[in-house]
Amino acid sequence: MKAAICYEFGKPLVIEEVTLEPPEKGEVKVRIVATAICHSDIHSIKGEHGACKLPALPGHEVAGYVEEVGENVKYVQPGDPVVCCLVRAGCGQCYYCITGLPNFCENWNFEFQRPGPYLNKNGERLILFAGLYAGFVEYTNVPEDALVKIPKDMPMDRAALLACGVISGFGAVVNGVKVKPFESAVVMGTGGVGLNAIQGAAFVGAHPIIAVDVLDNKLEVARAFGATHTINVTKASDPIEAVKKITYGRGSDYAFITVAGIEPKRQGFLMLAKNGIEVIIGHGMNEFLSSFDAVEFVGGRSITGCAMGASRIRIDIPRLIELYQVGRLKLDELITGRYPLERINEAIESTVRGEALRNVIIF
Ligand SMILES: [Zn+2]
Ligand SMILES: [Zn+2]
Repeated sequence: MKAAICYEFGKPLVIEEVTLEPPEKGEVKVRIVATAICHSDIHSIKGEHGACKLPALPGHEVAGYVEEVGENVKYVQPGDPVVCCLVRAGCGQCYYCITGLPNFCENWNFEFQRPGPYLNKNGERLILFAGLYAGFVEYTNVPEDALVKIPKDMPMDRAALLACGVISGFGAVVNGVKVKPFESAVVMGTGGVGLNAIQGAAFVGAHPIIAVDVLDNKLEVARAFGATHTINVTKASDPIEAVKKITYGRGSDYAFITVAGIEPKRQGFLMLAKNGIEVIIGHGMNEFLSSFDAVEFVGGRSITGCAMGASRIRIDIPRLIELYQVGRLKLDELITGRYPLERINEAIESTVRGEALRNVIIF
């Protein structure tokens, strides 16, 4: 089977034949049909997630068909269409699973950048950048509880988006801080995750929904996803004042930060109302928030974070598919380009240049 391998950080991926060991107990071998390119794949490929051992295999926004099941697998059988997720369905037994927060499952031992079941043609074992499985390869082995079955008529390229980008944005709003009707929300960064935070905010009835970015063309797309106001931070003389003006002088009830860097986090915090909540979704490495004065929190503002939209994957992904099927969730509009694996470097470059919401590799 063919795979796109990272041999050197920051260099194009190399398409090569690899071998995959059979699925272990509790694992499922998936024939990948579509893998979307996520910004965290690109951070890994550039070495921005820390310099792990190489060679490594990226990719994690995956949809495909079950090819083979390992021992003890009960949830799926060969032929089932599935989405693969980095967040697990949970053990169902621990404190967090029982209290309805399987995204915090205590029996979920996630190891980022771990050696996986693939060998390259020289017999070297490949590291999985995403830890759990790989995406830029024809087949992958996935733990059973990281899979969600999807309807047979769900298009695979759009299903792949649900694995990470969509749930991260939509879920942060709906599950994470549970925004209510008429609460205001700033969404900083209008890429794949930000647009989904915007459509999540629109879905729950937030108002106003203020999209903040540096590019007018992206802000225009944000309006189509439900933003009621837009602010281009490079053009607005005072973006913080602009948010205050839109929110009756109070500031925003929420600020969802989907981009890396300290500055947007600081700016988002200053856009908050007195009891507002900043939600950190996007981040880089070593973002120490040293510019915050403790007294700013005593007033009532707070900062929290949300990973993978606090998703209960087997509840949330089927719900999102239902919304898509009746036209209440935009997924078609998130796909900019479709590429075969052979052209993956082109697809990555276009994403790096900021031209794409999501480029999808189709197998
Ligand atoms: Zn992702
Ligand atoms: Zn658990």
